[in-house]
Amino acid sequence: MRPLYSEQQEMLAATVREFAEKEISPRAAEVDESESFPLAQFKGLARLGLTGLTVDEAYGGSGGDYRDMMVVVEEVAAACGSTSTALITHVSLGSQPINQFGTDAQKKRWLPSLTAGEKIAAFALTEPQSGSDALGLTTNIVEDGDSYVMNGTKLFITNGGVADVFTVFVTQDRAAGYRGISAIAVEKGTPGFTVNPQHGKMGMRGCEAAELVFDNCRVPKENILGSPGGGYRIALKILDSSRIMIAAQCLGLARGALDAAISYARQRKAFGSVIGKKQAIQFMLADMATELDAARLLTFRAASLYDAGMPHSKEAAMAKLFASEAAGRIASKAVQIHGGAGYFRPSIVERIYRDQRVTEIYEGTSEIQRLVISRELLGDLPE
Ligand SMILES: Cc1cc2nc3c(=O)[nH]c(=O)nc-3n(C[C@H](O)[C@H](O)[C@H](O)COP(=O)(O)OP(=O)(O)OC[C@H]3O[C@@H](n4cnc5c(N)ncnc54)[C@H](O)[C@@H]3O)c2cc1C
Repeated sequence: MRPLYSEQQEMLAATVREFAEKEISPRAAEVDESESFPLAQFKGLARLGLTGLTVDEAYGGSGGDYRDMMVVVEEVAAACGSTSTALITHVSLGSQPINQFGTDAQKKRWLPSLTAGEKIAAFALTEPQSGSDALGLTTNIVEDGDSYVMNGTKLFITNGGVADVFTVFVTQDRAAGYRGISAIAVEKGTPGFTVNPQHGKMGMRGCEAAELVFDNCRVPKENILGSPGGGYRIALKILDSSRIMIAAQCLGLARGALDAAISYARQRKAFGSVIGKKQAIQFMLADMATELDAARLLTFRAASLYDAGMPHSKEAAMAKLFASEAAGRIASKAVQIHGGAGYFRPSIVERIYRDQRVTEIYEGTSEIQRLVISRELLGDLPE
């Protein structure tokens, strides 16, 4: 029993779990091995209305809140890390800038096909020379009539290889700092925009990471999201909420590892009995389950604050920090419980161990989460 959730959320979880067990889990190893985007799985999630969750129903979305999304993301991640990253990137990172900051015309233009899963969204902030330090971005726009002319390079962009609509963060005036940064929607196929696939990831290998190159790429001014110069605020706001979804993803990864470890401990024999009878194994399982529940409580609190429209920046950072690092410890123990069998593909725990690692890096590293938390604790410090 998971008394945190409403009856409706329990039903949602059961529906997604059934779909994930049938359609996502059986293909997870292949997605990982072949580094191929889980398109059929993504379309299946779309048929369930999940690619439009948390998006305004007036534009084809399914409504719902971040606690609903948390439940969905956990179930998908328990089945396949890559599919959950594709979903989070599409909904929480890629579609939300349009949903929250787009004009009516922009929403009508992009959201119906995104929520239906006919088109895929991505979010492009990171560059070769600026990751954690997003203010250092150099991809720039220059006004020219009704358009902006865009030049620069983005890196490590999830869904990049398959996305149709990208929210790209650019600067119009580097001297103006954060006030010079804008968010602009760029469509695949725009002349001067090239997508170069990036292969060789350790984990989350099915998410089609890409480098994006803008070479005198002309984008209509009407594609600016929010106001010119308002992009940095958009990036922070979107990351603050999407981090809650990374925390939820960690719950799924950790649960997948714990379930596999329990099942292995119940059947693997050593020294005349199943290893689940050894106290060393029992204590590892107890610690794993306790950390998973603690992570879930932090994530639920952050999602609840977000849903209530209350400040949630510190709590989202805490949830992401704790859940990602706990998932790392849980995945590591799950490999340990499997012994050598946990080290070879296609062991589920071997894949989760690799998939988990990036959750401590993307959408803000653990160090950046600690900065967010400590800044809020300390406030303005005297010299
Ligand atoms: C698989 C994957 C998918 C990704 N998907 C996307 C995406 O879809 N869109 C996107 O825009 N980006 C994406 N990223 C980029 C990701 O968000 C960045 O990699 C991340 O923010 C870290 O930036 P960086 O790699 O430049 O590391 P750096 O910022 O160079 O950091 C290097 C190290 O220094 C530490 N560090 C930096 N600054 C500080 C500080 N002030 N205090 C203490 N320590 C510090 C960092 O924590 C880290 O340990 C993705 C990355 C990966 C690996």
